[in-house]
Parts: sequence; C-alpha cells; structure tokens
Amino acid sequence: MCCKLMAIPALEKPAASWCPKYVMKTGCGDYEGRPQACRAFECLYLTAEGLSDAWRPDKAKFMIWTGREQGRLIIDVDPSAPMAWRQQPYYAQIKAWSDRRQPQPFEVAVRVNGKLTIVFPEADIDLGAEQALPIESGYDTANRPFARYVRT
Ligand code: SF4
Repeated sequence: MCCKLMAIPALEKPAASWCPKYVMKTGCGDYEGRPQACRAFECLYLTAEGLSDAWRPDKAKFMIWTGREQGRLIIDVDPSAPMAWRQQPYYAQIKAWSDRRQPQPFEVAVRVNGKLTIVFPEADIDLGAEQALPIESGYDTANRPFARYVRT
C-alpha cells in the first residue's frame, strides 16, 4: 500500500498512484535499487506492537505512520476505499489514539484524496484540501476541539 499511497519524489511518483516499479502480489520490482525514501519508510503496522492482521495496510486500505512529523499520526487512506478508516475495528482505535489526555498525545490526521481531517474523540474536523501550511489543533477555552491552518 505504501507503494501506492506515498509520493516518491526521486521517482517522480505522485501520491495515490501505483509506483511503476511495483509488481502486483510480489512487491517492489527493484528492491536493491529502490530510493532512500522507500528504504527509510516504515508504517506503524510494522513497528507498533499489538496491531492485528486486520491492520495490514493492504487489508485495512490505509496505512498509518508518523514519519518526519513527530507528534502527528498520519492515516493515509486508499482513494479507492475512502471510508475504510471509519469502519470497525479501526474507527474506535483511531478515536482512542486521538485522545489528547494520553501521556504522549498525537494529533491524528486522516488524508483521503488530498483532503485532511483532524480526529478528536468527540469530533472529526474537516480541513478540506491539504495545504502546505502548519496546522494548529487542540481545545479552546470552552473545551471544544478545533483544528485550523496557521497563515502567517
Ligand atoms: S521503488 Fe519499490 S519500494 Fe519504492 S515505491 Fe516503488 S515499488 Fe515501492
């Protein structure tokens, strides 16, 4: 699934389209020569403990990663199954991850078809088309969740 969902600049591969080097049901067709971005990438299914087989990205139809964006859990959803993350058992767990009262809280961001949603236990806030701007999210003084792009 990462070979579809990730943008790989070294290959001029856009996000959400299969890499031309990918061989269906086999994997990377150029494993030894794959770019550094592919070598370095690990989705949460490979690194987190306790995720069942149902979370395997090709089954779940999304992949979860933290990558360079520390403190943010990114859920990249296959455009061919845009509602996959809202199915169970996924949705309940994603909501649990979004709880900011955890010792190491995450900003949980779901990316579907270039659109971004910030998840909270009590709300999913749609930010619309993803922008190259920082995002600020949390709870306001009335304890309501908010998320917005920060324009300088
Ligand atoms: S080069 Fe290989 S590992 Fe990298 S995206 Fe393409 S198929 Fe996947």
